[in-house]
Amino acid sequence: MGPKRAELLEKNLGIKTYYDLLYHFPTHYLDRRSIYRIIDFSGEDMPSVQVKGKFVSFTVQGEGAKTRLVGLFSDGSAVMEVVWFQRIKGIRQTYHTATEYIVFGKPTWFNGKWSMVHPEIDPPGAALARTGFRGVYPLTEQLRNRGFSSRTFSAAVSDILSGISGRLTETLPQEIITRHRLMGIHEALLAIHNPQTNEQLQAAKLRLKFEELFYLQLNIQRYARRRNSTTQGFLFPRIGHFFNTFYSQFLPFPLTGAQKRVIKEIRADMATGRQMNRLLQGDVGSGKTLVALLCMLIALDNSTQACLMAPTEILATQHFETISQLVAPMGINVKLLTGSTRKKAREEIHSQLMDGSLHILIGTHAVIEDNVRFRNLGFIVIDEQHRFGVAQRARLWTKNIIPPHVLVMTATPIPRTLAMTVYGDLDVSVIDELPPGRKPVQTLLRYDEDRFKTYQGIGRQLRLGRQVYIVYPLIKENEKLDLKSLEEGYETIRETFRDYKVAFVHGQMKPVEKDYQMGLFASGEANILVATTVIEVGVNVPNATTMLIENSERFGLSQLHQLRGRVGRGEGQSYCILMTKRKIAKDTRRRLELMTATTDGFAIAEADMQMRGPGDIEGTMQSGIPLDLHIANLATDGQIVQLARDTACDVLDADPDLTHPNHAVLVAQLRMLTARLQDWSRIS
Ligand code: ADP
Ligand code: MG
Repeated sequence: MGPKRAELLEKNLGIKTYYDLLYHFPTHYLDRRSIYRIIDFSGEDMPSVQVKGKFVSFTVQGEGAKTRLVGLFSDGSAVMEVVWFQRIKGIRQTYHTATEYIVFGKPTWFNGKWSMVHPEIDPPGAALARTGFRGVYPLTEQLRNRGFSSRTFSAAVSDILSGISGRLTETLPQEIITRHRLMGIHEALLAIHNPQTNEQLQAAKLRLKFEELFYLQLNIQRYARRRNSTTQGFLFPRIGHFFNTFYSQFLPFPLTGAQKRVIKEIRADMATGRQMNRLLQGDVGSGKTLVALLCMLIALDNSTQACLMAPTEILATQHFETISQLVAPMGINVKLLTGSTRKKAREEIHSQLMDGSLHILIGTHAVIEDNVRFRNLGFIVIDEQHRFGVAQRARLWTKNIIPPHVLVMTATPIPRTLAMTVYGDLDVSVIDELPPGRKPVQTLLRYDEDRFKTYQGIGRQLRLGRQVYIVYPLIKENEKLDLKSLEEGYETIRETFRDYKVAFVHGQMKPVEKDYQMGLFASGEANILVATTVIEVGVNVPNATTMLIENSERFGLSQLHQLRGRVGRGEGQSYCILMTKRKIAKDTRRRLELMTATTDGFAIAEADMQMRGPGDIEGTMQSGIPLDLHIANLATDGQIVQLARDTACDVLDADPDLTHPNHAVLVAQLRMLTARLQDWSRIS
C-alpha cells in the first residue's frame, strides 16, 4: 500500500503493521457460493446477494447533491437499478455495457423497482470473488469514501500471507494444538479472511478465539498464582467468643443453606494462611450483610479489626445501624466514618482504631483515606463492588503489613464467563438462595396513558399502610430528552397523594439533607419516596412494597434489577411498575419485557451481556482487562473461555514459571501481547 493509504488505515483503524492487518478480522461473512436471479428477489429485508449479468445502460440523474449514476442491470430474468452517488466519473469509465459482471450487494425495493446502491462489482473472471464466503470488514465512512472496500482487505491479507516465505510461526505450543485439534495459525488466518467452506471458517474462528482467550487466562492465572505464593495472609484458626455467642444467642433468623455454605468457604480460606480475595455474588436481598458480619466476627475472634466499606453514605449508614444493633449486646465497638463525620468524632475514631478499642469500622470511601490507620486490620468487606475501582481495592491492602483478607460483595450478578475473566484472580462464592417466605416481585409494564390507573393502584397500597418508591432517571429537566424531571414529578406526586407524606432524595443534595429525607422514609413517617437512582444500591425498607420507575426505558437491565431489589423485602406481595412511553425501540421493549418475565439476577445479567456486550456491563469498566476482544466474545463463547482457562491452568500446573523449552512460544507471545496492551492503555 502506498503511504497515503497506509496513513488513512492507521488514522481510521489504528492499523500500522502487518500484524494489525492480519488481526483485523471480518465481522461477518456473506455467502458468495450461489448466484441469485433478480426475478427471485422478494421480501422486505433481503440479504446481500450476488447477481450475474450485464449493464444495459448508464444514465446520470438528478442535480446537485442528488446527482447519481444509474446503471440498468439485467441478468436475463429481470432488470434492477444499480445506483452510485459518489465517484460517478470514475465508475462511468470503469464499467461498460455488454461485459459480464458479478454484482454484489443488498437489494432494496424502491419506487416499484429493485435496486442496489454502491454494490461491489467484480470484473469478469475475478476468481476470488465467485466462491466461498466474503468477509465483511469494519470500515469507516472515510475509508469507504476513499475507495477502501472489504475486498481491499482480503486482497491485502492474501498478499501478505502469500508473500511470507514459508509459513507464519506458530503462536501456540504444538501440544495444545494437537490436544484440542486446533487449526494451525497460518491456515487459520488464511481461512478467517477468505474462507472457502463453512467448516473451514468455523475451525479458524475456534482456533483464533481459543488463542485470544488462552493468553488472557494465562496472564490472569499467572498473576493470581504469583500473588498467592508471595503474599502472606492472616491465619484465623479460631472460631471464638464473638462468633459463637452471636450465632447461638443473637442471630436474628436461621441462616439459609447458601449463607451457611458461603461462610464455610470463607472460613476455609481464612484458615490457610494465604490472603483471601473472594467475590461474593448474591442477588439483591439474599442476605449478604449477615454473612459479612459473621465473617467480621471471626476476624475479631482472632484479635484483629474489621472494616466494611460501602459506596454511598446512605448505604454505609444503613449498614452501620443494622450491624451495631445486632452486635450491641456483645459489647463490640462499631463506628461509622463518612465524608460528613464531624472532626471530633473523626479524631475519636482515629485514635480508637490505633489503640485497638474500635473493633468494626463501617464507612464510605472515607475509610481508605491515608490518615485512617488501624492497629491490626484483618478483614475488609467491600459492599457493591462495582462502585469501587480495582485501584481503590488495592489501597485497602496497604493498610497493614500483612494484607487483610478481602471479601467483595456484589448484587449485580456477573455472568460466569465474565467473572472468570474480570475477577479471574478472585475466588467466587455464590448465594443462590433467597431467605424463605419471599414472594417474587410482580413486575408490570405500563404506558404513560395508564398513569391514572397506576396511581389508583399505588393509592390502594398506601391505604394498606405500605410504602412506595417513585424513581426518576434525572435530576434536572432536560428538554431534549423530554424527561420528566424529578422536581416536577415530586410536585405531581404531592398533589396526587395529598393525604400522604412524601420524602425526596437525589444525588446532588447535601448529605445531612439526604439523611434526613431517607430517615423520614426508613422510619415510616413518609409514605412515599421520590428519588433518583441514589436508592439503587442496598437500601432496605421492608414495608416498601411498590416501586414505580419513570422512563424505565432509560435504564439498563442491571440497573432496573438493582432498583427492583428495593422492594420485595418483606412479607407482603410487592410490585414493580415500569413506566414508559408507548413508542420504544425493539431492543428496549425486549429489555423491559425480560424484566417482567424474570426476577433471576443471573438470567438478567446474562441477557444484559448478550444485548450490550461485555464491555458495557457495570463493574467491568475499571477492570483494566480488555473486554473488547478481537474475535472472542465473552457473551457467546463461554465454552471456549472455560477450555482456555482449564488449559492455562494445566500449563501452569506443569510448568509454573514457563521455563520448559516447549513453552518458549508462550513467553514470547505473552511478552508481545503485554507490550501491545500497554500501548493501548497509553492511547486511551
Ligand atoms: P443483600 O444481599 O441484598 O445485601 P441484605 O443483607 O440486605 O441483602 O438482606 C436482605 C434482607 O433479608 C434483610 O432484611 C435481612 O435482615 C434479611 N435476611 C438475611 N438473611 C436472612 C435469613 N437467613 N432469613 C431471613 N431473612 C434474612
Ligand atoms: Mg446489600
